[in-house]
Amino acid sequence: MPDSRLTIDLNALAANHATLRGMAGGAAVAPVVKADGYGLGAAAVARRLHAEGARTFYVARISEGEALRTALGKLPAEILVLDGAVADAVARLKAAALTPVLNSPEQVELWRVQGEGGAAALHVDTGMNRLGLTLEQAELAARGGLRLSWVMSHLACADEPANPMNARQLGAFRQARALFRDVRASLANSAGVFLGPDYAFEMVRPGISLYGGGPQGRPDPRLQVVATLEAPILQVRDVSPGETVGYGATFTAAEPLRVGILSAGYADGVLRAGSSRSFAALGGRRAPVIGRVSMDLIAVDVTGMDARPGDLAQMFGPDAPIDEVAAASDTLAYELLVRLAPRLQRRYIGA
Ligand SMILES: *Cc1c(COP(=O)(O)O)cnc(C)c1O
Repeated sequence: MPDSRLTIDLNALAANHATLRGMAGGAAVAPVVKADGYGLGAAAVARRLHAEGARTFYVARISEGEALRTALGKLPAEILVLDGAVADAVARLKAAALTPVLNSPEQVELWRVQGEGGAAALHVDTGMNRLGLTLEQAELAARGGLRLSWVMSHLACADEPANPMNARQLGAFRQARALFRDVRASLANSAGVFLGPDYAFEMVRPGISLYGGGPQGRPDPRLQVVATLEAPILQVRDVSPGETVGYGATFTAAEPLRVGILSAGYADGVLRAGSSRSFAALGGRRAPVIGRVSMDLIAVDVTGMDARPGDLAQMFGPDAPIDEVAAASDTLAYELLVRLAPRLQRRYIGA
């Protein structure tokens, strides 16, 4: 009986990287590998994408940047830290040669004083109101003689191409980048790449679509499946009408059922929100989850299917698109990936 396992196809990752590069015109593709490469292993992901030509990487935390610098060793790479330069971390940024994304006038000032002329990126807010300087603050910073490698902003609604917010942010970003004439610019995340070349500037920053997630929360035929989560069937049992399945007895069989018990649960990262709503795939067919997802086990309806103990069911993968499984669990592919648990066996194809 195999353990439940996660397969990460680095060849598919490389193919998605090439696809995004093609869509971004001449812009560089800077992979976002925060949250351990969206749960798939930042070291393996970044090494493979470095071999594919990527030279700039984004992480969220300084600790992620330090780990990535170690993983890349002597390979030349610029590592940008989205959290930026926080007061007690300047020495750590410098020690690991990390480039902070300066998010506020205070961070700009701190880096001016303590950064010793090291490169930084500047984050300008164009409407999301999360991180970044306002246009007025950016104007002040532009006069201060800061050495910048990038000016960037982040789109709030790129997954909704018709949302007027996109054009508004694009307009504001053009104003912001005009303040920094010789500095290269970056605006687009994955969904931003799919908005077209106007949004690409000199660098795009895809995360989810490198890992196979569609730019609009739906499967996109241009992207290949990178992550496959499989769980073996431990047991197949007959359930009679009127009987219930699982904790809380929340599911009652209305007719005679064959039920497959899968060796996966929320301790593996399968979200409990998928209880009685999500599905697994068996031999290309969909087996609905019935009853509650528990810590180690999930029950699926395999009535009429060829299902035996030891057979592997896909919790997501080629037959169970991650965007659809996420939607059936009331979340996004992002969350399914970053919640993948340490207990899962991991194997890489194409390392
Ligand atoms: C996470 C993040 C990205 C990547 O977003 P995806 O939607 O996964 O492509 C890009 N830019 C910033 C600032 C981010 O925080």
